[in-house]
Amino acid sequence: MKRIVAALALALIASCGDGPNTDDKAPDKSAPPEAAISVIGVDDLAERFVKLGLALGQHDANYVDAYSGPPEWAEAAKTEKKPLDALEQEALDILEALGVLARDGVDAREAGLKSLATAALTRIRLAKGERFTFDEEAALIYGMAPPVQDPAAFDQALADIDALLPGDGPLTERVNAFRNRFNIPAEKLQAVFDAAIAECRQRTLAHYELPEGEKFSLRFVKDKPWSGYNWYQGGYESVIEINTDLPINIDRAVDLGCHEGYPGHHVWNLFVDRDLRRRNGWIEFSILPLFSPQALIGEGSANYGVELAFADREKLDFEREVLFPLAGLDPAGAAKLQALNALKRKLSHAANYIARDYLDGRIDRAAAIALMEKYELATPERARQRLDFIDAYRAYVINYNFGRDLVAAHIERETAKGAEPWTAFEQILSSPDAAGALGAR
Ligand SMILES: [Zn+2]
Repeated sequence: MKRIVAALALALIASCGDGPNTDDKAPDKSAPPEAAISVIGVDDLAERFVKLGLALGQHDANYVDAYSGPPEWAEAAKTEKKPLDALEQEALDILEALGVLARDGVDAREAGLKSLATAALTRIRLAKGERFTFDEEAALIYGMAPPVQDPAAFDQALADIDALLPGDGPLTERVNAFRNRFNIPAEKLQAVFDAAIAECRQRTLAHYELPEGEKFSLRFVKDKPWSGYNWYQGGYESVIEINTDLPINIDRAVDLGCHEGYPGHHVWNLFVDRDLRRRNGWIEFSILPLFSPQALIGEGSANYGVELAFADREKLDFEREVLFPLAGLDPAGAAKLQALNALKRKLSHAANYIARDYLDGRIDRAAAIALMEKYELATPERARQRLDFIDAYRAYVINYNFGRDLVAAHIERETAKGAEPWTAFEQILSSPDAAGALGAR
């Protein structure tokens, strides 16, 4: 392990070691007391980062997504409640020390830690009231800004959807009237989600050996700005929450089962815990900050995981044969629903286009909702929920579409070289350095 000696200790050693025949190991009454020599290595910086993250969590309620480190560190963060100015200085100090370490070259762990600390520094500055543009925030927190798209890029997909669902009235209304035929009745939600998650798990187990005892529990909740959430509890256990504020379409069961569960967030958390934290002993992975480049891996892999686990035809067959009967729905329109969803995926980057203009102050809330109705074909209720999400999580939206594209591009690159897709996917899940793993540098 590389180590650096803190500047103070270096100065003290230099001042007492300049005579001829000086032996550092020999007792020397002019040598500094041992306590004055502080040796800083990447493990020390990783520990300081975890404590910084816990302290930031006291100001930024969404920052700590999961924590499985020493409970006394979490307690101390709560008791001390360090001010934001002190946290900003600590983030800068960690980055400076990492810069000293980097003189001997940077490995993936150190690159990852630097990106985690940079993201934390940016969230601290946001909490202090500093403002960044959407693209600056994306680059500082997630390691790269997403491509800027012309809304005309979405027009072809909208025209194709119009042709798929012809009729009178606005396209968004036609699309949602069609989709509403496939909403899961409330009393069938549990059975449909249990079956979907079990299938996602089986398909994942065909490729991965998961840690023994891994498990999740499923809860249905209300009044949230998201549609689903995985809360990693540590100990290879997750709580998956599904928001029932709005009707849940049958196509969301497999999507959420893969995204929140297998091979998405739950499996990602298992691998990070097993491989990075426990096997490698990298303490920085005892905290999962919501806002960091790791989110590109988290959301990108969770969305790509749906495609990895189910080829289009397989998803359609499974939904038609298992989920539609469980939900008591007529499977006659299943193929058309899937064709609609394939076209809607081409609109996924509209979220960045709208969030960028909204967060940069070029459009107001009403205009953002109108754009979501037009380009995301969202009902007004769904558009409001999505805008609540943007208010809470800001540039995080890029992780779903841009992250998915980066993960897909990695899998394509690796499979072109002969790799197996699930193996290439696992490399991403277990990477300590998102930007490096996703080919951004
Ligand atoms: Zn997610």
